[in-house]
Amino acid sequence: MADFRSDTVTQPCAAMRQAMHNAPLGDDVFNDDPTTLELQRYGAELLGFEAALFAPSGTQANLIAMMSHCQRGDEAIVGQQWHTYKWEAGGMAVLGSIQPQPLELQADGTLALTDIAAAIKPDDPHFARTRLVVIENTVGGKVLPLSYMRAVAALAQDRGLACHIDGARLLNAAVALAPQQGVSPQQMARELCQGYDSVSLCLSKGLGCPVGSLLLGSKEFIARARRVRKMLGGGMRQTGVLTAAGLYALKHNIERLADDHANARLLADGLQQLASEQPALKTLTVIAPQTNIVFTDISPALAERLLPYLAGHGINVTASRYQAAQGALMRLRWVCHLDIKRSDIDRTLSLTDKFASS
Ligand SMILES: *Cc1c(COP(=O)(O)O)cnc(C)c1O
Repeated sequence: MADFRSDTVTQPCAAMRQAMHNAPLGDDVFNDDPTTLELQRYGAELLGFEAALFAPSGTQANLIAMMSHCQRGDEAIVGQQWHTYKWEAGGMAVLGSIQPQPLELQADGTLALTDIAAAIKPDDPHFARTRLVVIENTVGGKVLPLSYMRAVAALAQDRGLACHIDGARLLNAAVALAPQQGVSPQQMARELCQGYDSVSLCLSKGLGCPVGSLLLGSKEFIARARRVRKMLGGGMRQTGVLTAAGLYALKHNIERLADDHANARLLADGLQQLASEQPALKTLTVIAPQTNIVFTDISPALAERLLPYLAGHGINVTASRYQAAQGALMRLRWVCHLDIKRSDIDRTLSLTDKFASS
């Protein structure tokens, strides 16, 4: 089995399960679950915030953040492809009465600073009150650099807006950027968050937990967020069984994200190589990965044969059809994570080679 569909499919390892089993428990709605308090303290310190709040999902952590920053009728600037805008069932509008102002992404995954500035509405009764800028890092596996993150925070501060990072995979960005800056991934993560009012972080993706996200911010912000979480039904009781996994992950599973990035590169390079050697794979193009996610495009005709072949050998990817200039294409998404080993990459490449040769 090699399940490339998402880094959410990871199973808790034996040591993580043991930590969950052994966790001291309280009642988190009474704010006395010791393991959850410990995770929130640990996470806040890790990312350089005063306080943190455990949430059942990244979607809810983002929604809590947006509803804590914005009042009904306020506006949030988001990316057209941001998770908060496109992949969260419209929650900010439906449940928060927040108007999204989506902007097109640049090729590197950023929102142009000039586009953000131009989207901020003047104080005029015709307009919604622009209140928040949301940034996503990583976005589609792309890393937004530190200089860009700083520039957005500075712009938001200058214009009196709050700013939030959807950092579902922020630690992947930190691990990718840390070597260039000569700092630890933890230090890099703190630097990426500096100047932001809040950040959400998924524990249940590359970090390998079964459930959960953290929302981080000031003490005052987290106090408001706690009420919103309760309103949304996210107040849970003996959460220590879940937050013990989060603590384990933050202590043991950050540095190892580099292995996932290395595996993604191996997979991308190997597929690229096969595409140049195998006539049957000539429609295959590979987008070079920056972190743990590889995208490849193939013709729908090839996808129709290749995907069932791989699935028949226990190798699963997600595929979505889109219209490119040269016609319809299938975009495959291969996500590397802690349950994908180097040997899975080798096996995937050799099976693809065998498929192309037959
Ligand atoms: C996965 C993800 C989330 C939250 O996802 P949940 O499945 O709700 O935990 C938020 N933002 C981004 C960018 C994501 O990739």
